[in-house]
Amino acid sequence: MKLPYKIRELAEAVRSSLSSPYTVRYPFEPSPAPDGFRGKPQFDEAKCMGCGACVEGCPTGALTLTDEGNVRIIELFYGRCIMCGQCVERCPVEAIKLTTEYSIVYTAKEEALTSIRRTLVCCEICGTPITTLEHLKWITEKLGELALSNSTLVAVMQDLALGKTPTRAPKAKEIDRSDIIRVLCHKCRRRAMAVDHGWRAKY
Ligand code: SF4
Ligand code: SF4
Repeated sequence: MKLPYKIRELAEAVRSSLSSPYTVRYPFEPSPAPDGFRGKPQFDEAKCMGCGACVEGCPTGALTLTDEGNVRIIELFYGRCIMCGQCVERCPVEAIKLTTEYSIVYTAKEEALTSIRRTLVCCEICGTPITTLEHLKWITEKLGELALSNSTLVAVMQDLALGKTPTRAPKAKEIDRSDIIRVLCHKCRRRAMAVDHGWRAKY
């Protein structure tokens, strides 16, 4: 025989009050995300070389790159991050990864920011930023002996071998053929090469 509706309801209420809850108590208690969950990205400070490839791939502008003097700053603002993982895909050295952390609740904007700072190498003639020192080292390593064909890489590695930091102040001067062996941006290198070939008027 079926129990009256009210008694069934009462039995259900007693059963529920004695059983464990179906919902989690987050945010009062931690509620870990499952493996493979795409949560907040995090830099690996030791691996990041400041190349900026992740910034290029970020669809929301959560990642930004700023060159200030001899310093490059890569900044990540969690308030704009949609945890898509494009930055992870683009990074050549696995220096950024998605964690299983998902909380993006902050009381101040500064708390939602994280950044990486790297030494920037600039053109010795015009001062245009080339890339970071760590990035140049990585490129040199990848190229092996082929790096010897690039004067900028040779000059930077020579400085490092001599214990110097390749961050000289730019020289605002006319380019001459001896500048070929300096640390140059692509535009100044083209001009220096043109001078070396006697094409000064054209470039
Ligand atoms: S996960 Fe996506 S949105 Fe977030 S920083 Fe990386 S690329 Fe940008
Ligand atoms: S792509 Fe990787 S190495 Fe380059 S700046 Fe981003 S996190 Fe750093």
